[in-house]
Amino acid sequence: MSELAYPYEAPASQALFDRAAAVTPGGVNSPVRAFGAVGGTPRFMVSGSGPYLTDADGREYVDLVCSWGPMILGHAHPEVIAAVQEAVARGTSFGTPAEGEVALAEAMVERVAPLEEVRLVSSGTEATMSAIRLARGFTRRTKVIKFAGCYHGHVDSLLAAAGSGVATFALPDTPGVTGAQASDTIVLPYNDLEAVHAAFAAHPGEIACVITEASPGNMGVVPPLPGFNQGLKDACAANGALFVSDEVMTGFRTSRAGWYGVEGVVPDLMTFGKVMGGGFPAAAFGGRADVMAHLAPAGPVYQAGTLSGNPVATAAGLAQLRLLDDAAYEKVNAVSARIQGLVSEALTKEGVAHTVQTASNMFSVFFTDRPVHRYEDAKAQDSFRFTAFFHSLLANGVYLPPSSFESWFVSTAHDERAVQRIADALPAAARAAAEATA
Ligand code: PLP
Repeated sequence: MSELAYPYEAPASQALFDRAAAVTPGGVNSPVRAFGAVGGTPRFMVSGSGPYLTDADGREYVDLVCSWGPMILGHAHPEVIAAVQEAVARGTSFGTPAEGEVALAEAMVERVAPLEEVRLVSSGTEATMSAIRLARGFTRRTKVIKFAGCYHGHVDSLLAAAGSGVATFALPDTPGVTGAQASDTIVLPYNDLEAVHAAFAAHPGEIACVITEASPGNMGVVPPLPGFNQGLKDACAANGALFVSDEVMTGFRTSRAGWYGVEGVVPDLMTFGKVMGGGFPAAAFGGRADVMAHLAPAGPVYQAGTLSGNPVATAAGLAQLRLLDDAAYEKVNAVSARIQGLVSEALTKEGVAHTVQTASNMFSVFFTDRPVHRYEDAKAQDSFRFTAFFHSLLANGVYLPPSSFESWFVSTAHDERAVQRIADALPAAARAAAEATA
């Protein structure tokens, strides 16, 4: 995208981006932050407060990314900050067991019925990687089914997303993932139970687990069709495989008990991250006690981490979970519904084909008038319209995920003023989307 296409300037962010590019590949520590899909200068943020982020140029934005999900209470929530300050003052890492990690695990187990035992780790990637290893160790099988468009972190075997058709083994999606790693991954179209049954039939006794996002948000929000998750669970149970529900994004966000709380399908293993860390690196996997018993030191499947259960991260996560009562979820759901309505209204007024899809308070706007049930549907949208929409909103102080394949996130802190700012920015953005050309 040329500088001219988006004439508003962000000189301080650009200077930081230039500095970053000299010492960090692509200038960022996680690829989507580079604005590759939309062009322009990534905004370097210096502070966050409630629903707002402020960038290095001193501009304030209503944040609809919320750190990709974790900041469900908004930025710098006073009670979370107080818990962190109290914890930091007692030391930042002990390398021993500590009460905070027990309390966080107890809070999680209390909320999510299928979570009998939990192991804390530091990232969602670590959680899914460990859950897959445990599933393989428990079943003594090698193959894993995943779905195209579902993201489970950058675990080698789960980056394999290419390939179509039931028996097609995936090709590595990225250099560095070996054919051997990818060949143990079977990639199937999302929301397609027939494909799952066919894969089990084609590989009897070989499939260790099916892993799915509980309700996908990484191809945009594409909720499971009624019966899909239960069908996965049943297929796994019938074939001696484990059902692994990845709730890194949905966990403690879509309800008090995550997507499990919305749908009630009982997984064998679950993974968590984001909200449970309160903005710090904390994540987890857990589930059936008899399966978790196979994990070291109780069992033979090895897994460990220097900073696992870090006292500051667990204090932040626990403080955040304690504040997330039913009223908090009602608030987030309500503000999410309001923003969805405003976006849809503005786009409709300009005649822009779009579909808003939701999973509780997670939502995204696809630039197509067809429902999106799988990755192929998501890819068929008019992404060029999103680019124009995104930049217009950014120029008017609203920060969206810089890609049309992401969920938007809101928080309890998105109040009337923040919603009004979005409402004010939407007409121009909808017009920009309408006028955009491929
Ligand atoms: N699983 C899901 C569903 C995710 O959305 C993500 C990250 O966005 C991950 C796993 C990986 O988590 P992390 O980025 O903490 O490694």
